[in-house]
Amino acid sequence: MGYEVETRCLHLEENQAKKDIYGAVSFPIYQTATFAHKGVGQSTGYDYSRLQNPTREQLEKIVASLEKGIDALAFASGMAAIATLMELFEPGDHLVVDSDLYGGSIRLFQNISEKNGIEITSIDFGKEDVSRYITDKTKAVYVETPTNPMMNVTDIRKLGELTKSKNLMLIVDNTFLSPYFQNPLELGADVVVHSGTKYLGGHNDTIAGFLVTNREDISERLRFVIKTTGAGLSPFDSWLILRGIKTLALRMERAQENAFALVDWLKGCKRVTGIIYPGLPEHPGYEIMKAQSRGFGGMLTFEVDSKEFALSILNHVKLIQFAESLGGTESLITYPITQTHADVPPEKLVANGITDRILRMSVGIENKKDLIEEFERVFALAEEEVYG
Ligand SMILES: *Cc1c(COP(=O)(O)O)cnc(C)c1O
Repeated sequence: MGYEVETRCLHLEENQAKKDIYGAVSFPIYQTATFAHKGVGQSTGYDYSRLQNPTREQLEKIVASLEKGIDALAFASGMAAIATLMELFEPGDHLVVDSDLYGGSIRLFQNISEKNGIEITSIDFGKEDVSRYITDKTKAVYVETPTNPMMNVTDIRKLGELTKSKNLMLIVDNTFLSPYFQNPLELGADVVVHSGTKYLGGHNDTIAGFLVTNREDISERLRFVIKTTGAGLSPFDSWLILRGIKTLALRMERAQENAFALVDWLKGCKRVTGIIYPGLPEHPGYEIMKAQSRGFGGMLTFEVDSKEFALSILNHVKLIQFAESLGGTESLITYPITQTHADVPPEKLVANGITDRILRMSVGIENKKDLIEEFERVFALAEEEVYG
């Protein structure tokens, strides 16, 4: 693929307008469940939208090109993508997964995958040697980097060398950085997972998910599962994500710029007892990030000095909205302990350092002056409320 990443957000190698019979520049929404045949044995290439639909296929081609995979599959949600991926494993198979994962992924592994006979070992990849947990039943290693919400960074290249040498599948959830900032397949991963709801869609308006692979065998098996279990993304939602991706590069750059500005402001705030942002040179994953990513993203976690102060911030935000999710145009703040990580067992929360003083922010694309003024106002109100 010859184009640079910004261009690949918009264009495939073939010219869309020249291909379309009416010259449409925007890819059409093929809102149809089924496709008529011209005759017996004559398919247009599309038969039924659960199997494939032109709008979904266009989106899948764009995402495959962004992640430098040979195939991408679009799902009705990030969790539908991960649940489909788990269908590649059988009872008795074993997976080693990082302990600091998206709460929904932990819930899936513990409640669905284990029930289906798949054994999951969850360890801290930053502290433990993954190779020690690999057995003759192990089939895959699963990681997010940076993690949610603690921003732990894993060296994908190093992990890829291990999984290649042991013939294991390396799965990387790349939601937090998006393909604009990081391409795990190039670093040794076999499958990339995305919640397309986040940066790819980017507008806090659509739920979607992706699996991307550079392996023919995995692509073939996933294609069989998606058509059989039917979790593929609808034509209209595919179009919304296609439209969102067009501005991925601009949004990622602006979100990162705003995140750096907020980090600077938080550094000068006396109630802030910790800032976790991988773009800070003092962040333990900083050097690895510089070696494997093209940026640090727009996700920012910080700790304040009391639970009351954290709650007061949440009560006073106005421009920044108190909501789950991330990666959209609007800045959002969440309280991981009662929201995204509500179902995570307490001992796991403690081990990951997720306390009742931790707040996570998904920095949006607003003007950074407005975001800083919002922080100034909110922190002043919280100071008044909590410490008088
Ligand atoms: C949101 C998220 C998911 C799940 O995606 P949905 O689209 O909400 O189903 C998976 N992984 C990460 C890192 C996420 O942030």
